[in-house]
Amino acid sequence: MVVDDDFSARLQVRFTLENEGYEVVEAASGQEALDLFMENQPDLILLDVIMPDMDGFATCRALRTLPGGAHLPVVMVTGLEDTETINQAFDAGATDFVSKPINMLILGYRARYWLRSGAILRELEISQGRLFKAQDIARLGHWQRDLDTGIFEITSHTPEMFGLSRSGDFEALFAGIVSEDRDRARDQIDDACRLGHDFSVTYRIVLEDGSERIILNQGEIVGGDPHQRRLAVGILQDITALKQAEDKIHYLAFYDNLTGLANRALFREHWSKIFPHARRNGKKVAVLFIDLDHFKRINDTLGHPAGDKVLILVADRLKTVFRHSDIISRSSDGSSALISRVGGDEFTILATDITTSNQVTFLAERIVEALNQPLQLDGQLINLTASLGISIYPEDGDDIDTLLKNADTAMYEAKDNGRNSFQFFQSAMNDAAMERFHLGNRLRDALENGEIVLYYQPLFSNANGKLTGVEALIRWLDPEKGLIPPDKFLPFAEENGFIHKINDWVIQEACTQAQKWVAAGLFTDCRMSINISGNRINFKLLVANIIATLAQTGLAPEQFEVELTERVMMENTDEAIKMLAQLRDIGVSIAIDDFGTGYSALSHLQLFPLTTLKIDKSFVQNIATADKDLSLLLSIIGIAKSFDLKVVAEGVETEGQLSALGEMDCDYLQGYLLSRPITREKLEERLRSDLVD
Ligand code: C2E
Ligand code: CA
Ligand code: CA
Repeated sequence: MVVDDDFSARLQVRFTLENEGYEVVEAASGQEALDLFMENQPDLILLDVIMPDMDGFATCRALRTLPGGAHLPVVMVTGLEDTETINQAFDAGATDFVSKPINMLILGYRARYWLRSGAILRELEISQGRLFKAQDIARLGHWQRDLDTGIFEITSHTPEMFGLSRSGDFEALFAGIVSEDRDRARDQIDDACRLGHDFSVTYRIVLEDGSERIILNQGEIVGGDPHQRRLAVGILQDITALKQAEDKIHYLAFYDNLTGLANRALFREHWSKIFPHARRNGKKVAVLFIDLDHFKRINDTLGHPAGDKVLILVADRLKTVFRHSDIISRSSDGSSALISRVGGDEFTILATDITTSNQVTFLAERIVEALNQPLQLDGQLINLTASLGISIYPEDGDDIDTLLKNADTAMYEAKDNGRNSFQFFQSAMNDAAMERFHLGNRLRDALENGEIVLYYQPLFSNANGKLTGVEALIRWLDPEKGLIPPDKFLPFAEENGFIHKINDWVIQEACTQAQKWVAAGLFTDCRMSINISGNRINFKLLVANIIATLAQTGLAPEQFEVELTERVMMENTDEAIKMLAQLRDIGVSIAIDDFGTGYSALSHLQLFPLTTLKIDKSFVQNIATADKDLSLLLSIIGIAKSFDLKVVAEGVETEGQLSALGEMDCDYLQGYLLSRPITREKLEERLRSDLVD
């Protein structure tokens, strides 16, 4: 487009450029140029400076504001080649200038050059637009500061996003940062500028709407040689979402999803943080290892979702113990005790800044007590207890693995001492742990070497005092340690599954023995009872084995009885019911053992195919002392009778108990007063002498 009020000047330019193959539009005034501009979208404008009404400067300024006009090459045609006019031309936004009279010989070449630079500028504009777009999407911004002149620039479509205003100076870079982070950010960038380092600072800003964002400001110092300006250039990035994802990942890696407590990884991490401090300051650290007693039963009886809920409630309990206790002084960061869940029903506590063992005792008491209170679960009350082991740094170890191991050993000791209690680690316990470990292997050998034997404890008729049967009770005759009672090795065998071998052995041994006595005429109308226990018993196999063994030994099913606790039957309820019913139908007696303890429910008496109920010895032993127990005992007997069950009272130790039971509708009696469990030889003697009577 040629803009000139002089017709002949326009014609000359047109002629020249059309000859070169360009298409030319003419405008005779500034206003006409503006009007034609939209319609024709020229690629280049040659603009005369001196025109009536609107001169070239005003026209250029106006053109620049039109859509597509910003980067269009506009060449001013000046009459005079004075610097004043040239400056004015550039101020008005001209791309270049050419003086009159125009040298028509080279106009074509120059036009080509202007067009090319125009195209490049346009491309630059497009690519800058793309850059802004990309920056917006990536939530990126760019800034630079000339370190010599101090000139500061930001290249960002939306500087507000980074807490900046478009026209800010270097100071504005820090204005939006929250006060806690500001000095640190400023110092780091200042240092980088001074020393020529790279920098990378993360800080928080508060946006106008009050929301907080996290910004990563990263960059380097460039240039500095004689030909280049020294610049600090930085990239701003909104990493809030990234940070949130990172926090989430951190949470997943360091916290227990179920309870929100710390997990094993965080527990260790926390130890490595507090340990140097404790060592330097000669402080003690306590590791408490908590294990819920019989938690498996809750899972087995109420289901896993309920088990999960219980764990959440337990976690809350633990948290409250710490919230309401001032026994441990809080350090400045407020984290003096870390509670973590490290396994299914295992929790640990890392308590720092301990000065006396009394503090820990008190804490342990509080925890045991807190977990002892019934838990409310879906309107049902659950009674739970926990066993707790404690180890102390530095006495019981100076690395976390040793401390944990020792706390764990102490926890087992607490369990051995009747659960629902706590125990400090004593180094002697290590031996106990070792023994527990070796027991597994030794038990296997013991069974093969005949060190496992059965003792027999007689049962007597409450009506006439006659011996009516025996209960086989297992013993381990260790050549070195002497007689080991079942409580010391069966729990371990139950844990590692060896109990199933033991069960099979007892069936075989008891049936064989009983049939021998029958054959010798010593066991007429008497019954042999055995105990069966273990986790997840396969009742199909068990019952098949009993039936086969009875057949093989020839013992009459009527002379055989199996004693099981509710816990054992409940682990596989449906199969237990079905298979035990088969056993009962062929004449074998089925006794529910230790009734009245733990998970006893009267409904079980109807649920399981029973013939006999053995009242736990604790009831018998409380006869004289607790009225409440006495009436409960009487009602248990009453209900057992209504289900047509025979009732056995175990643990009769005194004459008082014996006479009290004599009054009751109880069929059989068993206890130290009448006979302790005795060896096979002793029992045979007794059976023989009974025969003589
Ligand atoms: P349990 O089935 O309740 O057996 C009765 C326990 O009470 C026996 O202990 C017996 O010696 C003891 N006892 C008998 N009369 C009295 C008394 O008057 N006072 C007191 N305080 N205790 C009395 P033992 O033999 O140490 O057996 C303990 C438990 O080990 C048994 O309890 C049973 O659960 C288990 N057990 C024993 N033998 C076997 C076995 O062969 N297989 C299986 N799976 N478990 C067995
Ligand atoms: Ca028993
Ligand atoms: Ca019992």
